[in-house]
Amino acid sequence: MRIGIVGAGLAGLACAESLASRSHDVMLFDKGRGPGGRMSSRRIPTAVGEAHFDHGAQYFTVREPAFRRRVDAWISEGTVAIWPSAGSEAYVGVPTMSAPVRQLASTLSVRWSTLVTRVERHGQGWQLVLEHDAAVCVDLVIIATPAEQAFALLESISPEFAARAGAVPSEPCWTVMVAFSQAVAVAQDCWRSEGVIGWAARNN
Ligand SMILES: Cc1cc2nc3c(=O)[nH]c(=O)nc-3n(C[C@H](O)[C@H](O)[C@H](O)COP(=O)(O)OP(=O)(O)OC[C@H]3O[C@@H](n4cnc5c(N)ncnc54)[C@H](O)[C@@H]3O)c2cc1C
Repeated sequence: MRIGIVGAGLAGLACAESLASRSHDVMLFDKGRGPGGRMSSRRIPTAVGEAHFDHGAQYFTVREPAFRRRVDAWISEGTVAIWPSAGSEAYVGVPTMSAPVRQLASTLSVRWSTLVTRVERHGQGWQLVLEHDAAVCVDLVIIATPAEQAFALLESISPEFAARAGAVPSEPCWTVMVAFSQAVAVAQDCWRSEGVIGWAARNN
């Protein structure tokens, strides 16, 4: 089948990899300029040089054996490292959090900077309507976006799925990225609290 996946974050890419290994023709579409999604990293020029920030996920843990095998492979190729300061079982992408997503994306067909504005029925299949009115026809569509964005795409084609997506509100989270002109004299790289600032990390 020719399969279109909306969203090339970790979920969409993992799904694409699995389908491509079963000989499906898979295309991913992502409105972002590059790999990452909620595991993205940002480069920002500062007065003291360029700084890199992981402004989504800070680290991840491993529970499933299949994911364990994947993480072990990422560690041996240098895409992921253990981050003891974040926890005894915490892992982080290196040099930035987007590294594992970038690695997955490198083997797949992804169209970046491509917003999917609508999904429509097209004969037996589907049509993905892209920004600027271009369209791509596929046999099957997979939506791998945050629930709010899935709702917007599903609303006109499947009220039932739209209702399920609409019932899952994301919890908002503000991220502050700060570059200091010299090393900050704190002993720990990570700091957690139940207060207003839930987590702070020395990102380098
Ligand atoms: C601040 C923060 C901290 C976090 N901390 C942790 C942590 O410590 N540990 C942990 O395990 N997880 C953490 N997470 C959660 C983790 O980042 C996410 O669960 C995971 O990255 C989600 O992956 P995903 O593929 O489901 O979605 P995403 O990564 O959000 O990917 C969805 C993609 O869809 C694209 N998209 C959306 N709508 C459209 C459209 N209409 N057309 C085209 N593209 C579209 C987006 O650009 C995006 O790239 C954190 C998240 C945040 C934001």
